Amino acid sequence: MPPESVAGAPFWAATRQQRLVLPWCAACDEPHWYPRGFCPRCLGSDIDWRPSEGRAVVHAVSVQPRAAHPALADRAPYAVALVDLDDGVRMMLAVAADDPWAVRVGDPVGLGWEPLADGRHLPVAVHTD
Ligand SMILES: [Zn+2]
Repeated sequence: MPPESVAGAPFWAATRQQRLVLPWCAACDEPHWYPRGFCPRCLGSDIDWRPSEGRAVVHAVSVQPRAAHPALADRAPYAVALVDLDDGVRMMLAVAADDPWAVRVGDPVGLGWEPLADGRHLPVAVHTD
């Protein structure tokens, strides 16, 4: 279960409705990722949370032929990617793909959700071959 930070609370709350929200700095009007209590560009502390469509492009991808954790053993092989969202932030996400080896840099990905036991959801990049 991913831990829930104070700065990330609005993100996790939105995942309960399978909505992606990103932190935007009210002072410089730029998004950032990951959530923190200040803007990494101007150090402003007035953070707005705005919805994202979750459209993204693969920046980098790695296929894990063996699970990194025993809990993921039945998933291997699986792809993990750095994706660039249209909104202007880069996130690391697991990739839902029929063939993880077919995921390429530059491929478009959509947004999907994986349920967690406590009602939150984990965003995943959905790759269509
Ligand atoms: Zn700022």
